[in-house]
Amino acid sequence: MGMDVPGRKTSGGALRRAALLVTFALSSAVAAVATIVPANNAELLLAKAAVLEPVTIRVEEAVLPSPLSYVREDRMQRGDTFQRLLARLAIGETDLRQLLRLRELRLLRPGTIVAAEVRAGAEHEGELLWLSFLGGRDTTVRIERVGGRLVASEQRTQIVTRTELKSALVRSSLFAAAEAAGVPDAVAIQLADVFASDIDFHRELRQGDRFSVLYEMHSVDGRPLRAGRVLAAEFTNQGRTHRALGYAGNYYAADGKNMRKALLRSPLELSRVSSGFGMRMHPLHKAWRAHQGVDYAAPSGTRVRAVGDGIVEFAGRQGGYGNLVIVRHDSRHSTWYAHLKAFGRGIRSQARVAQGDTLGFVGQTGWATGAHLHYEFRVAGAARNPLSVPLPAGTPVARQDMPAFRAHAQALTAQLDLLANRQVAALE
Ligand SMILES: [Zn+2]
Repeated sequence: MGMDVPGRKTSGGALRRAALLVTFALSSAVAAVATIVPANNAELLLAKAAVLEPVTIRVEEAVLPSPLSYVREDRMQRGDTFQRLLARLAIGETDLRQLLRLRELRLLRPGTIVAAEVRAGAEHEGELLWLSFLGGRDTTVRIERVGGRLVASEQRTQIVTRTELKSALVRSSLFAAAEAAGVPDAVAIQLADVFASDIDFHRELRQGDRFSVLYEMHSVDGRPLRAGRVLAAEFTNQGRTHRALGYAGNYYAADGKNMRKALLRSPLELSRVSSGFGMRMHPLHKAWRAHQGVDYAAPSGTRVRAVGDGIVEFAGRQGGYGNLVIVRHDSRHSTWYAHLKAFGRGIRSQARVAQGDTLGFVGQTGWATGAHLHYEFRVAGAARNPLSVPLPAGTPVARQDMPAFRAHAQALTAQLDLLANRQVAALE
């Protein structure tokens, strides 16, 4: 980001001046251009220096008055170092060394945007005036020049929370739809989680599905910081509309029924890598009937979660199943997870697991030609198609809380209705 301006000291010699020429020739091109001059090629340097002579810095300054300082912004990348980031902000050597000694710098995380004002021109080139970024725990870290020293302070950030109402049409995947509608990934993941007991997003999502979502968006200085909670959402999957209203930390249908059932539809959570249509059947088992389970194609190492609370009945190797975990949920329901590459922490026979706990990771142990999860859902010992089995429901809104819930739900419903009506109007 940010335009870079080459240094104005002439003491750098031929290399420095050659770099200036190249940069000016491209009219404020990025500084990286300067590196095309090989430092170890003396002959080339001389040639460049010779060409350079008629072009002086004064000419450039006469055309464009040189500003005294620049404000630049850059993002801390994954795998970035503080040194590299600070150098991209054009902070000079002296201040860079001082900055690296400040412990506040350790609050910088990948993805964080850092803004800095750095002086330009003559003897002040590269001198830092101030630098600021959002630290953890919603604070702003500000480093300022006070006399000759750089002083750091940490202040609480003014975070503004708004609600956003957006809707999207699914064409290829949930994430692509969310992206097209300007809905953050974090909201798409929450959405998949809210409807995790009603929709298997790996296998049931279809082109033409649509959703509307009301969620919180936190911002600082008018710049989006991160998404907050999903307040309410509507999802139309294969013509069936599900509505979820957030209330007291849970999601309920308009009638107060809990959206979260005792079992989740899918043992794999939705992520960018595992999302999309066409969870193909494993070539070894073409029909569900033939092999009594469902196969989820997923990259090796993908987390496999318990679809419901229960007790591990078996965790170990078993013939064609390879590494297998069997979870018993109650006297009638049990689930089987096969071909695992490895087991989750603490997953052994008789271990208690909660819904969403990691049982293991997708692999291809046993009778499997590629990495996939073989999943079985058994009712009273007989394998059943998990998509067609009615699931036991979670706890609904308590009777005494219903009046409060209804009032709250009405406001949320009104907003979703507003968007639904607008959508219909747009389609007509
Ligand atoms: Zn299978």
